[in-house]
Amino acid sequence: MVLQSEMYDITIVGAGPVGLYATYYAGLRDCRTKLIEMYPQVGGRLISMYPEKEVFDVAGHPKIVAADLVRLLTEQAMQYRPAVVLHERVTCLRILGERVIELATDRGMHYTQTAIIAVGSGAFVPRKLDIPHLIDLEGHGIYYWLKSFEALRGKKVLIVGGGNSAVDWALSLEGIAAEVTLAHRTYKFQAHEATVDKLLASGVRVKFPYFTLKAVLGEDHVTGAVIWNERSGKEEEIAVDAIVLSIGMLTNLEPFREWGLNIVGSGIAVAPDMSTNMPGVYAAGDIATYPGKILLITAGSGEAATAVNSAKEYILSGDLGR
Ligand SMILES: Cc1cc2nc3c(=O)[nH]c(=O)nc-3n(C[C@H](O)[C@H](O)[C@H](O)COP(=O)(O)OP(=O)(O)OC[C@H]3O[C@@H](n4cnc5c(N)ncnc54)[C@H](O)[C@@H]3O)c2cc1C
Repeated sequence: MVLQSEMYDITIVGAGPVGLYATYYAGLRDCRTKLIEMYPQVGGRLISMYPEKEVFDVAGHPKIVAADLVRLLTEQAMQYRPAVVLHERVTCLRILGERVIELATDRGMHYTQTAIIAVGSGAFVPRKLDIPHLIDLEGHGIYYWLKSFEALRGKKVLIVGGGNSAVDWALSLEGIAAEVTLAHRTYKFQAHEATVDKLLASGVRVKFPYFTLKAVLGEDHVTGAVIWNERSGKEEEIAVDAIVLSIGMLTNLEPFREWGLNIVGSGIAVAPDMSTNMPGVYAAGDIATYPGKILLITAGSGEAATAVNSAKEYILSGDLGR
């Protein structure tokens, strides 16, 4: 028997930008709302991976530093006084009955009529390359993301990758690092066209197409890299102090499958109303997938609003049935 006082209308799992926006929107819809985050701080990847990077594609902000965006999202989210639970990882979701969902964390139990899963990529590890010595030099010049640009002031940096993150890192470091090289292995960048144009017009040394990292040089710290052209076989040794591998993330979706959620490709499958295959359970943000999905803060915010509206309708349909 769940006490009424313990029961929330909507519980949002994950306090990244999408979870924060869902929290705001749930308050706006007059829902008793709880937000659960596994880290001691909110903000998701914007804080854990790129707090100093500028974000250019959020509606209404021509440009904004990621940490500032999180500060504003938090202020917006707290307006309707949601319950906020930090430093608790949701480990299990179970449906106990009609509009009764139990969320178990590493510290306790939470009860809710509906849940919105906004966990980003869930548990993830950066994709690595099978190169000798690479793992030994992690923390000694090998990076997978950049929490602070200052550490690379005056250094020579190699960035490996051709997606939005890689191109953004390269442009962010221009003017801070002494020299920036970007190596990309396919014939096309996966980044936004205008950002690629900016990159190609910048002072970044772009090694592309077919270039990737072949070897890392240095004993106790990175001192250089061998990049090679996979088509021609041509190799080039460059002196660098740091290498940023920005070639994607590997995510473990198994826990969500065990909860009973339908996993398709790299996410939880959702219908256009953001509902999952489990009644009362919705997903939004990077973890939600459907045809045409894009992994952007703005897209996730729209999904959050849709998920909250759908959850509210589901709650109201139960009230009408009583
Ligand atoms: C380097 C980089 C640069 C980027 N730049 C941009 C950009 O310029 N513009 C843009 O629009 N997008 C950008 N993105 C993409 C953007 O960061 C994501 O689309 C966005 O963070 C997704 O938000 P989210 O809230 O879904 O997930 P996340 O930001 O990943 O947040 C998920 C939250 O859920 C928490 N969580 C996970 N599992 C649990 C659990 N079991 N229990 C409790 N809490 C849990 C996590 O700790 C995290 O705080 C970038 C991504 C990267 C990696």
